[in-house]
Amino acid sequence: MSDTGATGHPFRHGGSSPRVLLRRLREIMAAEEGAQARLDKLSEAIAANMVADVCSIYLRRDDDVLELFSTVGLNQEAVHKTRLNWQEGLVGYVADKALPLNINEAQDHPAFSFRPEVGEEMLHAFLGVPIIRTGQVLGVLVIQNRTSRHYTEEEMEAAQLVATVLAEIVAAGDLLEKEDAAEVDRLLHRPEYLKAMPIVPGITIGTAALHEPPAPKHKVFAADVALETERLREGIVRLQKSVDDMIARNSQLSAISREVIEVYRLFAYDKGWAKRLEEAVLSGLSCESAVEQVQAENRQRMRKATDPYLRERLHDLDDLSRRLLRSLSGKTRRDELELPENAVLFAHALGPAEILEFDRRKLKGIVLAEGADTSHAAIVARSLGIPMIGRSEAAIERVEIGDAVVIDGESGEIFIRPEADVISGYQEKLALFSAAQKEYAQLRNLPCVTRDGTEVELFMNAGLVLDMPHLETTGAEGVGLFRTELQFLVSPQLPTASSQEELYRQVLDAADGKPVIFRTADLGSDKSAPYMRVVREGNPAMGWRGLRMSIDREGLIRPQLRALLGAAQGRELNVLLPLVTTSDEVGAIRAILEREVERRDKLGLGQPTSIRVGAMIEIPAAAWRLEHIAPQVDFLSLGGNDLAQFFFASDRESEKMAGRYDHLHPAFLSFIGMTATKANRAGKPLCYCGEQAGDPLMALALLALDIPRLSVSASSIGPLKKLIRAVDLNDLTAWLEPRLQSPAQSLRAELEAYAADRSLPLR
Ligand code: PEP
Ligand code: MG
Repeated sequence: MSDTGATGHPFRHGGSSPRVLLRRLREIMAAEEGAQARLDKLSEAIAANMVADVCSIYLRRDDDVLELFSTVGLNQEAVHKTRLNWQEGLVGYVADKALPLNINEAQDHPAFSFRPEVGEEMLHAFLGVPIIRTGQVLGVLVIQNRTSRHYTEEEMEAAQLVATVLAEIVAAGDLLEKEDAAEVDRLLHRPEYLKAMPIVPGITIGTAALHEPPAPKHKVFAADVALETERLREGIVRLQKSVDDMIARNSQLSAISREVIEVYRLFAYDKGWAKRLEEAVLSGLSCESAVEQVQAENRQRMRKATDPYLRERLHDLDDLSRRLLRSLSGKTRRDELELPENAVLFAHALGPAEILEFDRRKLKGIVLAEGADTSHAAIVARSLGIPMIGRSEAAIERVEIGDAVVIDGESGEIFIRPEADVISGYQEKLALFSAAQKEYAQLRNLPCVTRDGTEVELFMNAGLVLDMPHLETTGAEGVGLFRTELQFLVSPQLPTASSQEELYRQVLDAADGKPVIFRTADLGSDKSAPYMRVVREGNPAMGWRGLRMSIDREGLIRPQLRALLGAAQGRELNVLLPLVTTSDEVGAIRAILEREVERRDKLGLGQPTSIRVGAMIEIPAAAWRLEHIAPQVDFLSLGGNDLAQFFFASDRESEKMAGRYDHLHPAFLSFIGMTATKANRAGKPLCYCGEQAGDPLMALALLALDIPRLSVSASSIGPLKKLIRAVDLNDLTAWLEPRLQSPAQSLRAELEAYAADRSLPLR
């Protein structure tokens, strides 16, 4: 980051510089005066500074009307009389889009609306800038000129800077009569309803906590510039020290992470940054406002950058600014990790380890600006049963610490400061939900068998020791899929064989004799740990991952197999190999396993009572030649998540592909049916462990395709058991068979009708 020189720093222009303007605004705010007089003086000062014929300030009223509050250059009689509806005219257009509008001929713009009372016939150039605070448009600042001209980039930046300061002043209530200030306060705190991406289902009625809290309320202007400059210098020195400490504490970091942190340190010591902050303070702003101003400019600039590396750095700079604000307020990171009861945490992004850092008794919901349902954070949240919603930038902007919130992780709905009836509606929903949970709990010890007598085994998917108590609460037969890679993903370095062994032992102890199927680490693709130097691939899902990586890197699979053998000493061991493509790959891993068994014999160490090896069938080629793979293994597992991705050539991580092809497509179901037939013919048990099996309609289809063994997330076990106990499998099988040839794109609607006709409980 270097000093930006003459390319557009608003603080660095001659006579009409925003620095002079900010000083003037500060004087106006310091004078003892009525609200309207202050507002008018502000408009005058802005107009004079920007050499504008008109400067007007429109503010938003509670009923979403934009009222002319002050003007220089338009008819004074129009003040408080001209009221524009939301979206009306250019002012309404700017408010609605929440973006600046810079045009040389106002009347040529399609949104222009003529208001005779304001007297703007002679005006041509128009610059409108929204006044925004915490994501809410509070009004619009308008600059107009008689000449037809386009305002320069610097003028735009200056106007935006003024608008940000205005937003702060308006929100602080210093600029309005009492009742108007109360109205702005209501506007800033009105109920918000948002819908984003559902990630982990569940309802939380709770209190908002912010992962990156905004600066505490502060003054916009400083009383004593010299003192404030000193405060800034001290704040920066403290910040630099905290970054140095952080680097020293993490001295064992991998080269890649170190590189990232070093860049961070460069920013903290950057002279250009410090100088810009100081200039802003010299112009009269408080340190906090200066940090916000400079960061707003940085953001503006970085957003234009096309280089992904630079855009990444925007996050670093944002983070550094937040640290500086914290350092100025004397707050520490520890204070922020303190959560209220029933906390819903709002964050831009969260790593899996960060979730585990919080108090689990208090953390009851998560809302992210980023996030995908297959992300590691999602997997951890799912296993902790914490409802989670992603991709809601707006929620992060609008929520404030301590707000009442309701989130529904099933529908992706977020209510911030909800009305009482929303809360009571959700309380009812929660009560129904817990009634259903009670019913499932009662089913726990009843046999899982269809009405016509077919036994079905329901297993649970897991990835953390934390998941294990669900075995007991759900009554699952065992763990059908234990994703061992989670330990690799949440560790700062490659887990040692002994730490792996310790984890597997804990899992087996917790399973208390029920079977656990350990899948060897399915790393690569999206699942790369920070310490792994993964080669960038164009198609990582189809690249060097899973078993392929294990075969090429014995150093990865050997310690894991050693750990599994050690943990299962004296008990049954089930090892599942991910992403098998060809039969020889199974042979390669079996050979390593053999050598590890021999090693234990040589060392006189005990062995597991039995060792069973399974193959995950998640690549069409493996399904197609199952007869060659099946003889090499003891059991089979269908990984429907990957299988569907490769079957439909449809990236499971892609937001645009989500829901495009249904797993209830008759072609996919036929393919699964073929695989099940081959597994049966080979006499090898087959379990379906893709997430889709949690969809009750898919579970029905799988049963009808002769797969009476499913592994699903813990929350799906109760509902599926209830459904299975109500099904007549012979009837269902006869119903499905002819439909497998159907040209339809999905059997969903037909299956739904089938279930409805027979009153099958789908939820
Ligand atoms: C699958 O692919 O269906 C599966 C169960 O494994 P994962 O989701 O971990 O890839
Ligand atoms: Mg898979």
